[in-house]
Amino acid sequence: MIDGPPIEVNGRRYALPRQPVVVVCVDGCEPAYLERAIEAGATPWLASTRAGTWLVGDCVMPSFTNPNNLSIVTGAPPSVHGISGNYFWDPQAGVEVMMNDPKYLRADTILARLADAGAAVAVVTAKDKLRRLLGHGMKGICFSSEKANETTEAEHGIADALRFVGQPLPSVYSADLSEFVLAAGVRLMQTRRPDVMYLSTTDYVQHKHAPGTPEADAFYRMMDGYLRQLDALGCVIALTADHGMNAKTDAAGRPQVVYLQDVLDAWLGAGRARVILPITDPYVVHHGALGSFATIYLPVEMRLAEAIERLTQLPGMEAVLDRREACRRFELPEDRVGDVIVVSERHTVVGTSEARHDLSGLDAPLRSHGGLSEQRVPVILNRPTRRSPGARVRNFDAFDLALNRLA
Ligand SMILES: [Zn+2]
Repeated sequence: MIDGPPIEVNGRRYALPRQPVVVVCVDGCEPAYLERAIEAGATPWLASTRAGTWLVGDCVMPSFTNPNNLSIVTGAPPSVHGISGNYFWDPQAGVEVMMNDPKYLRADTILARLADAGAAVAVVTAKDKLRRLLGHGMKGICFSSEKANETTEAEHGIADALRFVGQPLPSVYSADLSEFVLAAGVRLMQTRRPDVMYLSTTDYVQHKHAPGTPEADAFYRMMDGYLRQLDALGCVIALTADHGMNAKTDAAGRPQVVYLQDVLDAWLGAGRARVILPITDPYVVHHGALGSFATIYLPVEMRLAEAIERLTQLPGMEAVLDRREACRRFELPEDRVGDVIVVSERHTVVGTSEARHDLSGLDAPLRSHGGLSEQRVPVILNRPTRRSPGARVRNFDAFDLALNRLA
């Protein structure tokens, strides 16, 4: 193992690992998935971690994939790293764009800095959209399940990852995409023994299946087997999630949606306000780009206080805040959100215009995330840790717990 003084990243210090450390981000892992899988006897390894560290913490808002994955690997909120959504309105360029490009990242990652300090680092992510952000500035191995068949030594630090892992290339809409991540992690640990590894799955199963269903339990049973192998290889494992997941339906199982662009067009005239949904990404089949968080750019003639008052009166709203208040409360970068932020309640989602959402791909009742109701996530280690009692735990404390706080 490597030796040297602690490194400092984004104002926090991290000791170099003395044994392999694996941080696993289980996409969409509402804590109930683990509780129900343990009750069903599907996950004996997870059950054994109750003797280690078993906490429920908070993810960052909005409770979406990119902001939270970047928080976990930077140890900091979006106000520091700049990734405020999967998607945003770039006012300088005047366009709505995906936030997949590392040019939007404003902070170093713990992974890159550990690699600079001499650690062997490996990152495997399910979807390729996260790969360049997670691997930004990092020497080491970094590839996605989605494009495991395209890896090269020069670009990904490993040639032909598909053959290396020895499983078929999974479909982007499948549980197999996540299994491939975990299988790759085990294979890497068996053969190259990296000092630090970050594994990030996808929430395909969680968007379709509630905690305790046979499909969900089967997913966690699969995961449990790989984590047990990593444990047996001597790894410190920290498991957390990017966000939770809830049913976003009414009593009849129909999606419960407030189409904000339609509402604002009726108030102000078509296209006067701009509704941005940071959940938007290229893979929308399983959620129709509907989540519980939106940001709105208002036309100059609409008074902010009036907009907030009227939006608050819409059904299913949990919080309607102006930019400054929202950025203070949710630790967001002020230059990357609109005039107003809307968070909908547990069983309600917000959309743009009804005509812009294709729900035809939904083959199960809508489950999604983005709001305060999906902020609770597991923070679990297979080792006991020392923490100040009662202190708030965040998913982005995972590296701090695994590197600095083992008991
Ligand atoms: Zn996610």
